[in-house]
Amino acid sequence: MKYDLHCHSHFSDGALSPTELVDAAVEAQITHLALTDHDTLDGLAEAQRAAFRHQSLTVINGLELSCTWENQLLHIVGLDVNPNNADLKAGVAQNKQRRLRRAEAMFEDFEQHDIYLRDFVANQLVSGGVPTRPHFAQALIEQGFAKDKKQAFKRYLVRGKPGYIPMRWPPLEEVADWILKAGGVAVLAHPNRYKMTRTKLSRLISEMLALGIQGMEVSTPTTDKQQTGMLGELANQFGLLASVGSDFHSYDQPWAKLGSAQPLAASLNPVWAQFSSISA
Ligand code: AMP
Ligand code: MN
Ligand code: MN
Ligand code: MN
Repeated sequence: MKYDLHCHSHFSDGALSPTELVDAAVEAQITHLALTDHDTLDGLAEAQRAAFRHQSLTVINGLELSCTWENQLLHIVGLDVNPNNADLKAGVAQNKQRRLRRAEAMFEDFEQHDIYLRDFVANQLVSGGVPTRPHFAQALIEQGFAKDKKQAFKRYLVRGKPGYIPMRWPPLEEVADWILKAGGVAVLAHPNRYKMTRTKLSRLISEMLALGIQGMEVSTPTTDKQQTGMLGELANQFGLLASVGSDFHSYDQPWAKLGSAQPLAASLNPVWAQFSSISA
């Protein structure tokens, strides 16, 4: 069994269609793939249809929701959710709306600087897709304002730079609630990326558990052996389920290849033990 429970398609900021993603997962010998686009469920039907053609692969319905905790942006992955649940759909619609409003404010802010990106962002979006900062980065590249995504983020799109619009995402407890109501397992995404001390991360985990958030990503391609060990220890200490995901977006990011996160250590309790869709 090979699990990758975090990746993106072109319904958010990924480069591949859900069908192309499923084919790439089969190629990478993944047996369980969760599609977890940012703030949308719209790629899941296509991913399930594509997986139907392959005996070896199961697609888990997922998403990655943005939220805030103590003034900090967090990403919570929902796994094995029912994409037809009304509460989840309403929550996702709310986050999508926030993204659309932010995109409009970003266009206007760029226009103040004589940078016109509307068509270049719109051209990248599929029907139902959500606008993300990487779409703006791509538009900036196409317009010659940056040589690559890294530079686009550094010069624009981040706090204090043109095109940066601060976001107010819903609180952690709200997004946890949407996932739980949809029968999913809520998982803290990429804990290494928040630059928290172990003390602060422990406090976050205690609050997560109180809210019914049962899991945390322990293995990702950007967690080194030591970090993975530390996260695994924390998971076991608090009784959290462990998840594994590449956060694959595109072939342009060789550090986050599909299926490239190391398998979980046998001492951990894997998050998939809770998936109703794959239990016997
Ligand atoms: P958003 O949720 O629209 O604010 O965009 C966040 C996404 O931007 C993340 O999920 C990453 O995929 C991407 N991202 C964030 N920072 C950078 C960066 N410095 N370079 C490239 N991509 C980035
Ligand atoms: Mn992303
Ligand atoms: Mn994320
Ligand atoms: Mn992600």
